[in-house]
Amino acid sequence: MRLYDSLTREVREVVPVDGRTVKIYSCGPTVYRYIHIGNMRSFMLGDLIRRALRFEGHPVRWVMNITDVGHMTDEVTDSGRDKMELAEADEGLSAAEIAQKYTEAFLHDADLVGIQRADLYPRATEHIPEMIAIIQRLLERGHAYEVDGTVYYDVTTFPEYGKLSGNTLDQLRAGHRQEVATDPNKRHPEDFALWKKAGPNRLLKWPSPWGEGFPGWHIECSAMSMKHLGERFDIHTGGNDNKFPHHEDEIAQSEGAVGHPVVSIWVHGGFLQMGGQKMAKSARNITRVTDLAEQGIDPLAYRLLCFGTRYRSEMDFSWEALEGQNRRLTDLRRRMAEWSAAPRPERLSPAGTELDRRFREAVSDDLDMPQALVVVNETVGAAGLAPGERYALLASWDAVLGLDLERDVRERWEPGPEVLELVRRRDRARSAKDWTAADEIRSRLQAMDLEVMDTPEGTKVRPRR
Ligand code: AMP
Ligand code: ZN
Repeated sequence: MRLYDSLTREVREVVPVDGRTVKIYSCGPTVYRYIHIGNMRSFMLGDLIRRALRFEGHPVRWVMNITDVGHMTDEVTDSGRDKMELAEADEGLSAAEIAQKYTEAFLHDADLVGIQRADLYPRATEHIPEMIAIIQRLLERGHAYEVDGTVYYDVTTFPEYGKLSGNTLDQLRAGHRQEVATDPNKRHPEDFALWKKAGPNRLLKWPSPWGEGFPGWHIECSAMSMKHLGERFDIHTGGNDNKFPHHEDEIAQSEGAVGHPVVSIWVHGGFLQMGGQKMAKSARNITRVTDLAEQGIDPLAYRLLCFGTRYRSEMDFSWEALEGQNRRLTDLRRRMAEWSAAPRPERLSPAGTELDRRFREAVSDDLDMPQALVVVNETVGAAGLAPGERYALLASWDAVLGLDLERDVRERWEPGPEVLELVRRRDRARSAKDWTAADEIRSRLQAMDLEVMDTPEGTKVRPRR
């Protein structure tokens, strides 16, 4: 598997640093508001990398953080409160309740676009001690300084600052000149806050060696990535806008604290645009995943739409294009249901083997999904390929595509006599309150890859997704 590394600006082979499990960290959502399909495009990138690696046979560990405090860059309002608190004022919920509500909404929407759950969703508010520990290390190593309860990173102590975004200190200086006036405590305008002193209105705050305060936005990702994946891990993802300042600052913090590179490959996804503008709450042009469903569109059609553009490129959203992909998806599933009746081949034909090779090659080649879709199309239309073989190929590729291509097959599924007999026996056991027998039969059904549900009408089964 090869991925484009934004830091070295070259396509590089993924080689797990621990020799076994590929470890991925993705910058996750800020949970004071609903996320939109633009955010989803960035989160789908992490999911796709994990799926592609697993498809190649690598074990993967995927961590995605939840930002429930400290996203300060564009979120400090005039009153000095951050947006977590602003939403609190809006809705009469506590910061923790807001975070919970939007985290659940995020997971729900992510499920709908086929993002498989990460192995861990660490929350910033649950990692304050880890953040403080890194800040202390940075102070000890001379990378940080404290002024009146606020701790800053001194970027002049990290000569490589700017290596990811390509912003040299000179350029940054020019860009930051105006800011000096707003914060006279900084030694250099491009220094950034690791820890901020809490003002009188601040609700979300913690005790620290520097007094009551709260973390800067970037420190959470240094703390959570290294805590959960170690001081060297393989892949870090985010959207293009995360390169600067978020990831530039994360590199300065993490490498400054441990004294060596931490991330092997930095992967950044292009933005989703709407009418030539990037999709953003502030641009008032956001669409949520649930809006798609309301328009009668399967959210997985959005996933398919995204595959049509290489992940690094910007992508323009249009409802017409989405509707086109929705029809395409419906058609693919219908064909799968037709082909499912045909016998599966014992082994792939030479033509099938070649298609499979090309699909795998496209996915491994820095996630060339547009090319992978070309192969899908050819497989659907290829003359001389048996229907059972088309089915087998597409069903196996769906591990990467995540389009639920077998949905129609599943919905048309009827239990066979063996399954019916087990269901009858389980219902009899349940009426006799013989829970041991009922559980034992449930396990047998589950071992047949069936989902077992207890309903008022008795046991119901269906193929597991
Ligand atoms: P936020 O919740 O604002 O921190 O954003 C979460 C993620 O979504 C970040 O990785 C951003 O880079 C990404 N993101 C925000 N807007 C877009 C967009 N229009 N297209 C793609 N990714 C985006
Ligand atoms: Zn982050």
